[in-house]
Amino acid sequence: MSYGTKPKVLHPSVAPNKIGLYERDYEGAMSTLCAGCGHDSVTSAIVRALYELAIEPHTVAKFSGIGCSSKTPTYFLSTAHGVNSLHGRMPSIATGAGAANRDLHLIGISGDGDSLSIGLGQFCHAARRNLNMLYVLMNNGVYGLTKGQFSASADVGSKRKKGEANKFNPIDPAQLAISLGASFVARSFSGDKQQLIPLIKAGMLHKGFAFLDVISPCVTFNDHETSTKSYMHTRENRQEVVHMDFIQPAGEISASFDAGAVQRVTLHDGTPILLKKADADYNPSDPTVAQSYIREHQLKGQIVTGLLYMEETDEDMHTLADTVDMPLIDIPYHKLSPGAEALRKLQESFR
Ligand code: SF4
Ligand code: MG
Repeated sequence: MSYGTKPKVLHPSVAPNKIGLYERDYEGAMSTLCAGCGHDSVTSAIVRALYELAIEPHTVAKFSGIGCSSKTPTYFLSTAHGVNSLHGRMPSIATGAGAANRDLHLIGISGDGDSLSIGLGQFCHAARRNLNMLYVLMNNGVYGLTKGQFSASADVGSKRKKGEANKFNPIDPAQLAISLGASFVARSFSGDKQQLIPLIKAGMLHKGFAFLDVISPCVTFNDHETSTKSYMHTRENRQEVVHMDFIQPAGEISASFDAGAVQRVTLHDGTPILLKKADADYNPSDPTVAQSYIREHQLKGQIVTGLLYMEETDEDMHTLADTVDMPLIDIPYHKLSPGAEALRKLQESFR
C-alpha cells in the first residue's frame, strides 16, 4: 500500500544533475513503514546515489520479494520498471529480466527473512552466476512484517523484546556471498549515509553481482538494549575496514593518505575509485583474507563494514554464458525466429 506520490515542489537553490533531473525525480511514493525504520534511510540513500550518478530512470528495473524491505522499491524511482514478486523469489525474476535485457540496471531489494530462509537458494544462485545487479539486503535480524520473529541473521544471544534469546547460529550474508563468488561485497549501516551512498554508487557501476548487506534496524521489534541489530549496538560495534570513495579529478587525492593503506581500482565503465583501508593488512581483493577477517571480528562482537571484497572482473552472467551482445528486444524478428527450415535442420542434427 502507498499514499501516492509526493508533491514536486522545488526550492530555487536545488540543482539538476547532468541529465537535467532533480533528486525529486528519483523518488517514489510516500513510505508507509514505521517512523524511524532503517529501511527509509536506505531508500533515501538509493535516491541520492542514482541522482548523483545521473542514471536515466527508465533504464532501471527494481525487484523485490516479500517483507517490509520488499515494500521499499515503491518509495524510490517511480518511473522505473519494477516487479514486487513472491517471497524469496526476487533473484530469479531479476535473473530473467537481466537475461532478456542486458542493458537494464537491475536493483534487487530484499531482507534477511526474504533472502536467508525461504529465498536462500535463490540468493546463492544469483551470486554464483555473477548476475549483473545491485542486491541490497536490508538486515534487521527479524521478520518485521510478521511482528518480530527471529530471522536467520539474528546473532546467538541477541534477545527479543520480551527477553527470549536466540540460540541458533546466524547466517552472515556477506561471508556467504564471498564464498559463492559474488564479485563485489560490502556492508554498511542505514544510519551512515556517508558510507552507504558511495557503496550504492559503486555497486551500481560494478559489472557483476554487487551485494550490499545493510544493517537497517527495525525500530518496532528489534531496537531494544539486548538486540545486536539495534541503532545503538551497531553504532558502538561497527568498524569500517575499507572506506570507499570516488576519485574526482585523478591526481588530487594521493597526498592525504598513507601509501600502504590506499588502493586504487577502476570499475568496469572506467570510473576510478579509491579504497582507504583502516587496517593496512586488510586486502579487499583476497576472498580468504576478507572472510577470515570478518569472522574473527564477528567472534569479538564487532561488525566489519565498508567495501569488504571486490574482484576486478568483467565476467558477469552474460560473459560466462556467452549470450548475444544485445537485448533480446532489439534483435530483429528474423534472427529470433529463423524459420521452419532452420528448425527442421536443427532437429535433423539430433537424429
Ligand atoms: Fe521497519 Fe520494523 Fe516497522 Fe517493518 S516493522 S516497517 S522493519 S520498523
Ligand atoms: Mg528482516
